[in-house]
Amino acid sequence: MNIFQLLAQSARTFAERPAVCLGEKTFCTYAGLHDRSAALAAGLRARGVPPGGRVVIYMGNRAEYIEMLFGIWAAGCVAVPVNAKLHPSEVDYVLANSGAELLFTDQPAAMASYAGTVGVESPDYAALIAAPAPFTPAVAAPEDPAWIFYTSGTTGRPKGAVLTHRNLWAMTLSFLADICPVTEASAALHPAPLSHAAGLFALPFVRRGAVNVVPASGGFDPGELVALLHRFPRASFFTAPTMLNRLVACPALDDRAMSGIDLVFCGGAPIYVEDLRHALKLLGPRIWIGYGQGEAPCTISYLPPHLLGPDTPEALLGSVGIARSGVAVRVVDETGTDCPPDVLGEVIVAGDVVMAGYWQNSEATASALRDGWLWTGDIGSFDAQRVLTLKDRSKDVIISGGSNIYPREVEEVLLRHPGVTETNVIGRPHPDWGEEVIAFVVADPGVTAEALDRFCLDRIARFKRPKDYRFVPSLPKSSYGKILKTELRRMLAETEPTPQ
Ligand code: AMP
Repeated sequence: MNIFQLLAQSARTFAERPAVCLGEKTFCTYAGLHDRSAALAAGLRARGVPPGGRVVIYMGNRAEYIEMLFGIWAAGCVAVPVNAKLHPSEVDYVLANSGAELLFTDQPAAMASYAGTVGVESPDYAALIAAPAPFTPAVAAPEDPAWIFYTSGTTGRPKGAVLTHRNLWAMTLSFLADICPVTEASAALHPAPLSHAAGLFALPFVRRGAVNVVPASGGFDPGELVALLHRFPRASFFTAPTMLNRLVACPALDDRAMSGIDLVFCGGAPIYVEDLRHALKLLGPRIWIGYGQGEAPCTISYLPPHLLGPDTPEALLGSVGIARSGVAVRVVDETGTDCPPDVLGEVIVAGDVVMAGYWQNSEATASALRDGWLWTGDIGSFDAQRVLTLKDRSKDVIISGGSNIYPREVEEVLLRHPGVTETNVIGRPHPDWGEEVIAFVVADPGVTAEALDRFCLDRIARFKRPKDYRFVPSLPKSSYGKILKTELRRMLAETEPTPQ
Protein backbone atom coordinates (compact mmCIF):
# COMPACT_ATOMS: atom_id res chain seq x y z
CA MET A 1 0.00 0.00 0.00
CA ASN A 2 1.54 3.24 -1.18
CA ILE A 3 2.20 5.68 1.68
CA PHE A 4 0.85 8.34 -0.68
CA GLN A 5 -2.59 7.18 0.50
CA LEU A 6 -2.02 9.22 3.68
CA LEU A 7 -2.28 12.36 1.63
CA ALA A 8 -5.02 11.10 -0.68
CA GLN A 9 -7.24 10.44 2.36
CA SER A 10 -6.58 13.84 3.87
CA ALA A 11 -7.22 15.58 0.56
CA ARG A 12 -10.69 14.01 0.64
CA THR A 13 -11.49 14.69 4.27
CA PHE A 14 -9.61 17.92 5.01
CA ALA A 15 -9.52 19.43 1.51
CA GLU A 16 -9.67 23.09 2.56
CA ARG A 17 -7.49 22.84 5.67
CA PRO A 18 -4.02 24.34 5.40
CA ALA A 19 -1.55 21.52 4.74
CA VAL A 20 1.75 23.40 4.53
CA CYS A 21 2.64 26.83 5.85
CA LEU A 22 5.80 28.75 5.10
CA GLY A 23 6.30 30.72 8.27
CA GLU A 24 2.88 32.05 9.18
CA LYS A 25 1.54 32.01 5.61
CA THR A 26 -0.40 29.14 4.08
CA PHE A 27 1.51 27.65 1.16
CA CYS A 28 -1.15 25.10 0.19
CA THR A 29 -4.27 23.36 1.45
CA TYR A 30 -4.69 19.59 1.55
CA ALA A 31 -6.45 19.66 -1.82
CA GLY A 32 -3.59 21.80 -3.12
CA LEU A 33 -0.88 19.57 -1.67
CA HIS A 34 -2.53 16.56 -3.25
CA ASP A 35 -2.81 18.22 -6.65
CA ARG A 36 0.74 19.54 -6.60
CA SER A 37 2.11 16.13 -5.57
CA ALA A 38 0.04 14.37 -8.25
CA ALA A 39 1.28 16.87 -10.85
CA LEU A 40 4.85 16.25 -9.77
CA ALA A 41 4.31 12.50 -10.04
CA ALA A 42 2.86 12.88 -13.53
CA GLY A 43 5.83 15.08 -14.42
CA LEU A 44 8.28 12.45 -13.18
CA ARG A 45 6.54 9.81 -15.28
CA ALA A 46 6.51 12.06 -18.31
CA ARG A 47 10.27 12.49 -17.91
CA GLY A 48 10.73 8.75 -17.92
CA VAL A 49 11.68 8.33 -14.25
CA PRO A 50 10.59 4.71 -13.77
CA PRO A 51 8.81 3.29 -10.70
CA GLY A 52 11.52 2.41 -8.21
CA GLY A 53 13.75 5.21 -9.58
CA ARG A 54 15.61 7.16 -6.91
CA VAL A 55 15.06 10.88 -6.61
CA VAL A 56 17.47 12.77 -4.36
CA ILE A 57 16.27 15.84 -2.45
CA TYR A 58 19.24 18.03 -1.50
CA MET A 59 17.55 21.02 -0.07
CA GLY A 60 17.06 23.01 3.10
CA ASN A 61 13.60 22.95 4.69
CA ARG A 62 11.26 24.56 2.21
CA ALA A 63 7.51 24.47 1.69
CA GLU A 64 8.02 22.32 -1.42
CA TYR A 65 9.66 19.52 0.58
CA ILE A 66 6.44 17.75 1.47
CA GLU A 67 4.97 17.82 -2.04
CA MET A 68 8.25 16.40 -3.32
CA LEU A 69 8.09 13.45 -0.93
CA PHE A 70 4.47 12.68 -1.79
CA GLY A 71 5.01 13.33 -5.51
CA ILE A 72 7.91 10.88 -5.55
CA TRP A 73 5.80 8.26 -3.75
CA ALA A 74 2.78 8.84 -6.01
CA ALA A 75 5.04 8.09 -8.98
CA GLY A 76 6.16 4.85 -7.27
CA CYS A 77 9.67 6.27 -6.93
CA VAL A 78 12.03 6.33 -3.96
CA ALA A 79 12.84 9.54 -2.09
CA VAL A 80 16.47 10.03 -1.06
CA PRO A 81 16.50 13.11 1.19
CA VAL A 82 19.98 14.31 2.10
CA ASN A 83 21.03 16.97 4.54
CA ALA A 84 21.32 20.41 3.00
CA LYS A 85 24.52 21.03 4.92
CA LEU A 86 26.39 18.24 3.14
CA HIS A 87 29.24 19.24 0.90
CA PRO A 88 28.45 18.83 -2.82
CA SER A 89 31.12 16.12 -3.01
CA GLU A 90 29.26 14.15 -0.32
CA VAL A 91 26.05 14.58 -2.30
CA ASP A 92 27.91 13.30 -5.36
CA TYR A 93 28.60 10.16 -3.39
CA VAL A 94 24.91 9.72 -2.52
CA LEU A 95 23.87 10.41 -6.13
CA ALA A 96 26.28 7.79 -7.43
CA ASN A 97 25.63 5.26 -4.67
CA SER A 98 21.86 5.46 -4.99
CA GLY A 99 22.00 5.55 -8.82
CA ALA A 100 19.69 8.56 -8.74
CA GLU A 101 17.56 9.44 -11.76
CA LEU A 102 16.91 13.00 -10.66
CA LEU A 103 18.00 15.56 -8.10
CA PHE A 104 15.81 18.27 -6.61
CA THR A 105 17.84 21.03 -5.03
CA ASP A 106 17.77 24.63 -3.95
CA GLN A 107 21.48 24.87 -4.79
CA PRO A 108 21.48 24.19 -8.53
CA ALA A 109 24.78 26.05 -9.01
CA ALA A 110 26.55 23.64 -6.67
CA MET A 111 25.14 20.66 -8.53
CA ALA A 112 25.38 22.00 -12.08
CA SER A 113 27.51 19.06 -13.14
CA TYR A 114 24.77 16.54 -12.45
CA ALA A 115 22.66 15.87 -15.55
CA GLY A 116 19.35 15.36 -13.79
CA THR A 117 19.37 18.48 -11.59
CA VAL A 118 16.08 20.36 -11.14
CA GLY A 119 16.36 23.61 -9.21
CA VAL A 120 13.30 24.13 -7.04
CA GLU A 121 13.02 27.75 -8.16
CA SER A 122 13.62 26.96 -11.82
CA PRO A 123 11.10 27.02 -14.69
CA ASP A 124 11.90 23.31 -14.95
CA TYR A 125 10.31 22.68 -11.55
CA ALA A 126 7.39 24.94 -12.41
CA ALA A 127 6.84 22.84 -15.54
CA LEU A 128 7.05 19.59 -13.57
CA ILE A 129 4.43 20.79 -11.12
CA ALA A 130 2.09 22.22 -13.82
CA ALA A 131 -1.52 21.00 -13.71
CA PRO A 132 -1.73 17.31 -14.59
CA ALA A 133 -4.27 15.27 -16.42
CA PRO A 134 -6.18 12.99 -13.98
CA PHE A 135 -3.51 10.92 -12.32
CA THR A 136 -3.53 7.44 -10.78
CA PRO A 137 -0.90 6.96 -8.09
CA ALA A 138 1.41 3.99 -8.54
CA VAL A 139 0.61 0.81 -6.68
CA ALA A 140 3.33 -0.03 -4.16
CA ALA A 141 3.92 -3.36 -2.45
CA PRO A 142 4.64 -3.16 1.28
CA GLU A 143 8.24 -4.22 0.59
CA ASP A 144 8.88 -1.59 -2.07
CA PRO A 145 11.44 1.02 -1.05
CA ALA A 146 9.99 4.47 -0.28
CA TRP A 147 12.85 6.37 1.40
CA ILE A 148 16.56 5.74 1.46
CA PHE A 149 18.00 7.26 4.58
CA TYR A 150 21.75 7.78 4.35
CA THR A 151 23.32 7.34 7.76
CA SER A 152 25.05 10.47 8.94
CA GLY A 153 28.43 8.90 8.33
CA THR A 154 30.07 9.66 11.66
CA THR A 155 32.27 6.69 10.71
CA GLY A 156 33.32 5.88 7.16
CA ARG A 157 31.09 6.33 4.14
CA PRO A 158 27.36 6.79 4.67
CA LYS A 159 25.20 3.74 4.02
CA GLY A 160 21.69 3.94 2.61
CA ALA A 161 19.12 2.39 4.96
CA VAL A 162 16.24 1.29 2.72
CA LEU A 163 12.89 2.12 4.29
CA THR A 164 9.87 0.49 2.68
CA HIS A 165 6.27 1.61 2.45
CA ARG A 166 5.59 -0.89 5.24
CA ASN A 167 8.19 0.81 7.44
CA LEU A 168 6.61 4.21 6.90
CA TRP A 169 3.10 2.91 7.59
CA ALA A 170 4.27 1.19 10.76
CA MET A 171 5.99 4.32 11.92
CA THR A 172 2.97 6.52 11.21
CA LEU A 173 0.46 4.23 12.89
CA SER A 174 2.60 3.66 15.95
CA PHE A 175 3.09 7.42 16.25
CA LEU A 176 -0.67 7.77 16.58
CA ALA A 177 -0.70 4.90 19.08
CA ASP A 178 2.12 6.04 21.34
CA ILE A 179 2.94 9.67 20.91
CA CYS A 180 0.27 12.30 20.82
CA PRO A 181 -3.33 12.78 19.79
CA VAL A 182 -2.93 14.78 16.59
CA THR A 183 -6.05 16.52 15.25
CA GLU A 184 -6.65 18.97 12.43
CA ALA A 185 -6.03 21.74 14.99
CA SER A 186 -2.47 20.48 15.62
CA ALA A 187 0.65 21.75 13.92
CA ALA A 188 4.02 20.16 13.21
CA LEU A 189 6.80 22.74 13.11
CA HIS A 190 9.98 21.92 11.23
CA PRO A 191 13.01 23.74 12.59
CA ALA A 192 14.98 20.46 12.22
CA PRO A 193 16.03 19.05 8.83
CA LEU A 194 13.17 17.36 6.98
CA SER A 195 15.76 14.98 5.56
CA HIS A 196 16.00 13.33 8.98
CA ALA A 197 13.46 12.41 11.69
CA ALA A 198 11.43 15.61 11.24
CA GLY A 199 10.45 14.52 7.74
CA LEU A 200 9.21 11.20 9.04
CA PHE A 201 7.35 12.84 11.93
CA ALA A 202 5.47 14.93 9.34
CA LEU A 203 3.54 11.90 8.09
CA PRO A 204 1.08 11.35 10.96
CA PHE A 205 0.29 15.06 10.85
CA VAL A 206 -0.60 14.73 7.18
CA ARG A 207 -2.93 11.84 7.93
CA ARG A 208 -4.82 13.87 10.53
CA GLY A 209 -5.18 16.99 8.41
CA ALA A 210 -2.86 19.01 10.69
CA VAL A 211 -0.62 21.69 9.26
CA ASN A 212 3.11 21.19 8.62
CA VAL A 213 4.91 24.48 9.19
CA VAL A 214 8.28 25.20 7.63
CA PRO A 215 9.97 28.20 9.28
CA ALA A 216 10.65 31.00 6.80
CA SER A 217 14.36 30.79 7.66
CA GLY A 218 14.32 27.13 6.62
CA GLY A 219 16.06 26.11 9.82
CA PHE A 220 16.37 26.49 13.56
CA ASP A 221 16.27 29.97 14.97
CA PRO A 222 15.00 29.94 18.56
CA GLY A 223 13.42 33.42 18.30
CA GLU A 224 11.60 32.49 15.11
CA LEU A 225 10.42 29.24 16.68
CA VAL A 226 8.98 31.17 19.63
CA ALA A 227 7.07 33.44 17.23
CA LEU A 228 5.69 30.37 15.44
CA LEU A 229 4.59 28.93 18.78
CA HIS A 230 2.58 32.09 19.37
CA ARG A 231 0.92 31.70 15.98
CA PHE A 232 0.39 27.90 16.16
CA PRO A 233 -0.68 27.00 19.71
CA ARG A 234 -0.94 23.08 19.69
CA ALA A 235 2.43 22.69 18.05
CA SER A 236 4.87 19.80 18.14
CA PHE A 237 8.33 19.61 16.68
CA PHE A 238 11.44 17.49 16.54
CA THR A 239 14.72 18.69 18.01
CA ALA A 240 18.12 17.19 18.52
CA PRO A 241 19.20 17.62 22.17
CA THR A 242 21.49 20.54 21.26
CA MET A 243 18.52 22.39 19.77
CA LEU A 244 16.38 21.78 22.83
CA ASN A 245 19.15 23.22 25.00
CA ARG A 246 19.31 26.31 22.82
CA LEU A 247 15.55 26.72 22.85
CA VAL A 248 15.26 26.60 26.63
CA ALA A 249 18.11 29.11 26.90
CA CYS A 250 16.33 31.54 24.54
CA PRO A 251 15.26 34.67 26.48
CA ALA A 252 12.25 35.12 24.17
CA LEU A 253 10.73 31.81 25.30
CA ASP A 254 7.77 33.10 27.29
CA ASP A 255 4.81 31.39 28.97
CA ARG A 256 2.59 31.88 25.97
CA ALA A 257 5.05 30.09 23.68
CA MET A 258 5.63 27.30 26.18
CA SER A 259 1.95 26.70 26.70
CA GLY A 260 1.62 26.46 22.90
CA ILE A 261 3.78 23.35 22.81
CA ASP A 262 2.01 20.00 22.60
CA LEU A 263 5.21 17.98 22.49
CA VAL A 264 8.88 18.36 21.70
CA PHE A 265 10.18 15.13 20.15
CA CYS A 266 13.76 14.98 21.25
CA GLY A 267 16.22 12.34 20.09
CA GLY A 268 18.91 11.38 17.65
CA ALA A 269 21.64 11.66 20.29
CA PRO A 270 21.83 11.29 24.07
CA ILE A 271 20.20 14.00 26.12
CA TYR A 272 22.10 14.46 29.33
CA VAL A 273 20.23 14.24 32.63
CA GLU A 274 21.18 17.78 33.69
CA ASP A 275 19.92 19.23 30.43
CA LEU A 276 16.71 17.22 30.57
CA ARG A 277 15.98 18.30 34.13
CA HIS A 278 16.50 21.89 33.17
CA ALA A 279 14.21 21.60 30.12
CA LEU A 280 11.55 19.80 32.16
CA LYS A 281 11.60 22.51 34.79
CA LEU A 282 10.66 25.04 32.14
CA LEU A 283 8.47 23.07 29.78
CA GLY A 284 6.86 20.56 32.11
CA PRO A 285 5.66 17.23 30.72
CA ARG A 286 5.95 18.32 27.12
CA ILE A 287 9.15 16.54 26.26
CA TRP A 288 9.05 13.20 24.50
CA ILE A 289 12.39 11.44 24.42
CA GLY A 290 12.83 8.86 21.68
CA TYR A 291 15.65 6.52 20.81
CA GLY A 292 15.80 5.55 17.16
CA GLN A 293 18.03 4.97 14.20
CA GLY A 294 17.77 5.65 10.51
CA GLU A 295 17.63 1.87 10.29
CA ALA A 296 14.49 1.72 12.48
CA PRO A 297 12.58 4.97 12.30
CA CYS A 298 11.28 6.88 13.93
CA THR A 299 11.90 5.31 17.23
CA ILE A 300 12.66 2.04 18.92
CA SER A 301 11.84 3.16 22.46
CA TYR A 302 10.49 6.24 24.22
CA LEU A 303 10.05 7.93 27.54
CA PRO A 304 6.37 8.72 28.03
CA PRO A 305 6.16 12.42 29.01
CA HIS A 306 3.65 11.80 31.79
CA LEU A 307 6.33 9.84 33.66
CA LEU A 308 8.66 12.82 33.69
CA GLY A 309 8.50 15.47 36.37
CA PRO A 310 10.56 17.31 38.95
CA ASP A 311 10.87 14.20 41.13
CA THR A 312 11.60 11.66 38.42
CA PRO A 313 14.50 9.48 39.54
CA GLU A 314 17.76 10.05 37.74
CA ALA A 315 17.82 6.48 36.44
CA LEU A 316 14.60 7.03 34.49
CA LEU A 317 15.66 10.45 33.20
CA GLY A 318 18.89 8.95 31.92
CA SER A 319 17.08 6.08 30.20
CA VAL A 320 15.45 5.85 26.78
CA GLY A 321 12.30 4.35 28.25
CA ILE A 322 10.22 1.48 27.01
CA ALA A 323 9.79 -0.24 23.64
CA ARG A 324 7.49 1.44 21.14
CA SER A 325 4.27 -0.29 20.09
CA GLY A 326 4.95 -3.08 17.62
CA VAL A 327 8.70 -3.02 18.24
CA ALA A 328 10.48 -5.92 19.92
CA VAL A 329 13.64 -4.89 21.74
CA ARG A 330 16.22 -7.19 23.33
CA VAL A 331 19.60 -6.75 24.95
CA VAL A 332 21.93 -9.63 24.08
CA ASP A 333 25.51 -10.82 24.42
CA GLU A 334 27.73 -11.63 21.41
CA THR A 335 26.11 -15.05 21.03
CA GLY A 336 22.63 -13.53 20.83
CA THR A 337 21.59 -14.73 24.29
CA ASP A 338 19.41 -12.34 26.31
CA CYS A 339 21.24 -10.52 29.10
CA PRO A 340 19.65 -10.53 32.55
CA PRO A 341 18.39 -7.20 33.96
CA ASP A 342 21.09 -4.57 34.52
CA VAL A 343 23.66 -6.44 32.45
CA LEU A 344 24.98 -4.60 29.42
CA GLY A 345 24.73 -6.01 25.91
CA GLU A 346 23.94 -4.94 22.37
CA VAL A 347 20.44 -3.64 21.65
CA ILE A 348 18.71 -5.63 18.92
CA VAL A 349 15.34 -4.80 17.42
CA ALA A 350 12.63 -6.48 15.35
CA GLY A 351 9.30 -5.30 13.97
CA ASP A 352 7.77 -3.51 11.03
CA VAL A 353 9.91 -0.44 11.58
CA VAL A 354 13.15 -2.24 10.80
CA MET A 355 14.67 -1.35 7.41
CA ALA A 356 14.82 -3.80 4.53
CA GLY A 357 18.63 -3.52 4.42
CA TYR A 358 21.35 -1.20 3.17
CA TRP A 359 21.14 -0.07 -0.43
CA GLN A 360 23.31 -2.35 -2.57
CA ASN A 361 25.53 -3.30 0.32
CA SER A 362 24.88 -6.94 1.10
CA GLU A 363 27.88 -7.21 3.39
CA ALA A 364 26.73 -4.38 5.69
CA THR A 365 23.15 -5.70 5.51
CA ALA A 366 24.23 -9.21 6.55
CA SER A 367 26.10 -7.80 9.51
CA ALA A 368 23.25 -5.51 10.67
CA LEU A 369 20.28 -7.83 10.00
CA ARG A 370 20.61 -11.31 11.45
CA ASP A 371 17.71 -13.76 11.73
CA GLY A 372 15.19 -10.96 11.48
CA TRP A 373 16.86 -8.78 14.14
CA LEU A 374 18.54 -5.44 13.59
CA TRP A 375 21.81 -5.20 15.53
CA THR A 376 21.90 -1.53 16.40
CA GLY A 377 25.52 -1.22 17.55
CA ASP A 378 24.19 0.48 20.69
CA ILE A 379 25.18 -0.88 24.09
CA GLY A 380 22.55 -0.81 26.80
CA SER A 381 20.72 -2.69 29.52
CA PHE A 382 17.18 -3.28 30.67
CA ASP A 383 16.17 -2.87 34.28
CA ALA A 384 13.69 -5.24 35.90
CA GLN A 385 10.79 -3.16 34.51
CA ARG A 386 12.13 -3.38 30.93
CA VAL A 387 13.24 0.24 30.92
CA LEU A 388 16.15 0.56 28.49
CA THR A 389 19.25 2.60 29.27
CA LEU A 390 21.88 3.18 26.61
CA LYS A 391 25.53 3.41 27.48
CA ASP A 392 27.20 4.10 24.18
CA ARG A 393 27.83 2.92 20.67
CA SER A 394 29.76 -0.37 20.91
CA LYS A 395 32.66 1.08 18.94
CA ASP A 396 32.94 4.08 21.27
CA VAL A 397 33.47 2.08 24.46
CA ILE A 398 36.91 2.80 25.91
CA ILE A 399 38.82 -0.21 27.20
CA SER A 400 41.45 0.82 29.69
CA GLY A 401 43.43 -1.77 31.61
CA GLY A 402 40.83 -4.35 30.59
CA SER A 403 37.93 -2.38 32.08
CA ASN A 404 35.13 -0.98 29.95
CA ILE A 405 34.53 2.72 30.36
CA TYR A 406 31.41 4.20 28.83
CA PRO A 407 32.10 7.77 27.69
CA ARG A 408 28.52 8.82 28.41
CA GLU A 409 28.93 8.05 32.12
CA VAL A 410 31.96 10.31 32.36
CA GLU A 411 30.27 13.03 30.27
CA GLU A 412 27.21 13.00 32.57
CA VAL A 413 29.49 13.68 35.54
CA LEU A 414 31.45 16.48 33.86
CA LEU A 415 28.23 18.17 32.77
CA ARG A 416 27.16 18.48 36.38
CA HIS A 417 30.06 20.91 36.91
CA PRO A 418 28.53 24.38 36.72
CA GLY A 419 31.32 25.73 34.50
CA VAL A 420 31.03 23.03 31.83
CA THR A 421 28.71 23.65 28.87
CA GLU A 422 29.57 20.76 26.59
CA THR A 423 31.85 17.78 26.73
CA ASN A 424 32.73 14.63 24.92
CA VAL A 425 34.96 11.80 26.01
CA ILE A 426 37.05 9.50 23.81
CA GLY A 427 39.85 6.97 24.24
CA ARG A 428 43.47 7.56 23.27
CA PRO A 429 45.82 4.62 22.64
CA HIS A 430 48.10 4.03 25.62
CA PRO A 431 51.08 1.64 25.68
CA ASP A 432 50.26 0.13 29.09
CA TRP A 433 46.54 0.53 29.48
CA GLY A 434 45.38 -0.06 25.92
CA GLU A 435 43.45 3.19 26.00
CA GLU A 436 43.14 6.13 28.34
CA VAL A 437 40.24 8.51 28.82
CA ILE A 438 40.51 12.00 27.31
CA ALA A 439 37.82 14.67 27.74
CA PHE A 440 37.15 17.50 25.31
CA VAL A 441 35.48 20.30 27.22
CA VAL A 442 33.74 23.55 26.39
CA ALA A 443 33.92 25.46 29.67
CA ASP A 444 33.78 28.91 31.24
CA PRO A 445 37.11 30.71 31.57
CA GLY A 446 38.83 29.73 34.78
CA VAL A 447 37.69 26.11 34.81
CA THR A 448 40.88 24.08 35.16
CA ALA A 449 41.86 20.47 34.53
CA GLU A 450 42.69 20.15 38.24
CA ALA A 451 39.24 21.33 39.27
CA LEU A 452 37.57 18.90 36.89
CA ASP A 453 39.80 16.09 38.08
CA ARG A 454 38.79 16.73 41.70
CA PHE A 455 35.17 16.91 40.62
CA CYS A 456 35.43 13.49 38.94
CA LEU A 457 37.35 11.91 41.83
CA ASP A 458 34.44 12.81 44.10
CA ARG A 459 31.90 11.19 41.82
CA ILE A 460 33.24 8.27 39.76
CA ALA A 461 35.75 5.46 40.02
CA ARG A 462 39.36 6.65 39.66
CA PHE A 463 40.00 4.58 36.56
CA LYS A 464 37.12 6.22 34.73
CA ARG A 465 38.23 9.79 35.20
CA PRO A 466 39.84 11.59 32.26
CA LYS A 467 43.63 11.52 32.24
CA ASP A 468 43.78 14.62 30.10
CA TYR A 469 41.49 17.54 29.30
CA ARG A 470 41.36 19.47 26.07
CA PHE A 471 39.62 22.83 26.45
CA VAL A 472 38.05 23.80 23.13
CA PRO A 473 35.77 26.68 22.06
CA SER A 474 33.24 24.24 20.54
CA LEU A 475 32.83 20.58 19.66
CA PRO A 476 32.78 19.38 16.05
CA LYS A 477 29.28 18.31 15.01
CA SER A 478 27.72 16.54 12.04
CA SER A 479 25.11 18.24 9.89
CA TYR A 480 22.48 16.70 12.19
CA GLY A 481 24.12 18.12 15.31
CA LYS A 482 25.77 14.89 16.49
CA ILE A 483 29.19 15.25 18.05
CA LEU A 484 31.79 13.78 15.72
CA LYS A 485 34.01 11.49 17.73
CA THR A 486 35.96 10.65 14.58
CA GLU A 487 36.89 14.32 14.28
CA LEU A 488 37.87 14.48 17.98
CA ARG A 489 40.09 11.41 17.47
CA ARG A 490 41.71 13.13 14.52
CA MET A 491 42.27 16.31 16.55
CA LEU A 492 43.81 14.25 19.30
CA ALA A 493 46.10 12.34 16.96
CA GLU A 494 47.40 15.64 15.62
CA THR A 495 48.44 17.00 19.02
CA GLU A 496 51.00 15.91 21.55
CA PRO A 497 49.77 14.72 24.92
CA THR A 498 49.73 17.44 27.55
CA PRO A 499 52.72 16.94 29.90
CA GLN A 500 51.54 15.44 33.19
P1 AMP B 1 20.85 8.17 13.22
O1 AMP B 1 20.61 6.92 12.47
O2 AMP B 1 21.77 9.11 12.53
O3 AMP B 1 19.59 8.82 13.66
O4 AMP B 1 21.66 7.77 14.57
C1 AMP B 1 21.13 6.81 15.44
C2 AMP B 1 21.99 6.66 16.67
O5 AMP B 1 21.90 7.83 17.49
C3 AMP B 1 21.52 5.53 17.55
O6 AMP B 1 22.03 4.28 17.14
C4 AMP B 1 22.04 5.94 18.92
O7 AMP B 1 23.41 5.61 19.07
C5 AMP B 1 21.92 7.46 18.88
N1 AMP B 1 20.65 7.89 19.51
C6 AMP B 1 19.49 8.19 18.91
N2 AMP B 1 18.56 8.58 19.81
C7 AMP B 1 19.16 8.52 21.03
C8 AMP B 1 18.74 8.80 22.37
N3 AMP B 1 17.52 9.24 22.66
N4 AMP B 1 19.64 8.61 23.36
C9 AMP B 1 20.89 8.17 23.09
N5 AMP B 1 21.34 7.91 21.87
C10 AMP B 1 20.50 8.08 20.83
